[in-house]
Amino acid sequence: VPVTSPAFTVRSGAGDYSVEEFGSIGAAIRSVGAGSRSVYLVDETVASLHAADLAGALPAERTLLVEASETAKSLEALSPLVCRLLEMGIRRDGTLIVVGGGTLQDIGCFLASILFRGIAWELVPTTLLAQADSCIGSKSSINVGAYKNQVGTFYPPRRVLLTPAVLATLPWDETRSGLGEVIKLQLLAGEGGFRELMADLERSSIEPSLLARWVRRSLEVKKTFIETDEYDQGIRNLLNYGHTFGHAYESATHYAIPHGIAVILGMLTATRISASKGFVPRDHYRELRAMLQPWYRPYQARLRGARRDEIFRAIRMDKKNSSNAINCILTRGFGRMEKCTVDLEAEVVPVIDDFIADETTDPDLS
Ligand code: NAD
Repeated sequence: VPVTSPAFTVRSGAGDYSVEEFGSIGAAIRSVGAGSRSVYLVDETVASLHAADLAGALPAERTLLVEASETAKSLEALSPLVCRLLEMGIRRDGTLIVVGGGTLQDIGCFLASILFRGIAWELVPTTLLAQADSCIGSKSSINVGAYKNQVGTFYPPRRVLLTPAVLATLPWDETRSGLGEVIKLQLLAGEGGFRELMADLERSSIEPSLLARWVRRSLEVKKTFIETDEYDQGIRNLLNYGHTFGHAYESATHYAIPHGIAVILGMLTATRISASKGFVPRDHYRELRAMLQPWYRPYQARLRGARRDEIFRAIRMDKKNSSNAINCILTRGFGRMEKCTVDLEAEVVPVIDDFIADETTDPDLS
């Protein structure tokens, strides 16, 4: 993938950071410099799939390979990692270089924020979700026991090193999942970008240079939200569009539906609730569904496995909700999302029942 995009800066209360692009993951890591104070935290799958490109770039005695799993990003799993990093000689003036997707990012960001009360870190994101979305925004989220993402910090890296070429090895499910967040960001940006993306999407999923362009366009959208509201007190909440209902579909299907696909289904649910409240015409929902269905269709039948009571329990348990009053992001049209409180029994349950019925009675579904 030729590197054509210039670097840009993200403003942060904790220190601005740069986003730069490299032709290969090896080139990105070599750009960190041979500083003996760097320690590397690397997704073990990425290390093995990209071994040839990484040869010579990662010093074995200062590289810690980690499996990208929800267990690995739990508070319980972090103590041994801290000990290993200390044994490897990480120092207060050292740098932690993190290579991987959102899981490694969460682990690395959290560790960097607590080691010696905060050390410098740099991020080489390797999944589409991490490159197009999570790599900027400063957040880390860690699991504790059965509670997912309930502990975390705001702690930006010093640099983000994008490498579009690394996405070539990403499994198809992960690519589709990442596209869910790419779609969400363009829906938040407005009608023009969304329609342009949808026209490009089929080709983007197989053409690295086009995908790299949409990664960049996604980050441009996210940057405006996080620079205005880095600590998620106001407008940044809108980035949760599709997430309240999406999380419920994910957990009620026991994660059989990939995250980004669940976000697409969650955005459609939010649009349908918006239509039932008269915020958007019903045709807006119908058009969106027709455009998005090709992307979630391979997973649509899995909604059949979602138990109704589990969906509603998950919505109630969402960290933003108390009892029957559900905080969620609704829409008044492309680029016009807003935070609302809706009544679970009266406004959400009937719409989700209809939504699931429509999505799971499609006669062509296998
Ligand atoms: P991931 O990091 O869990 O990786 C998914 C799978 O792809 C893993 O098996 C991994 O080993 C593999 N992989 C990674 N890069 C690869 C590559 N280039 N080629 C082949 N395989 C590769 O996936 P993700 O979707 O990036 O991250 C999900 C996690 O991110 C969740 O835990 C979520 O909570 C978190 N997250 C964090 C933020 C944030 O702002 N901190 C935002 C969104 C999501």
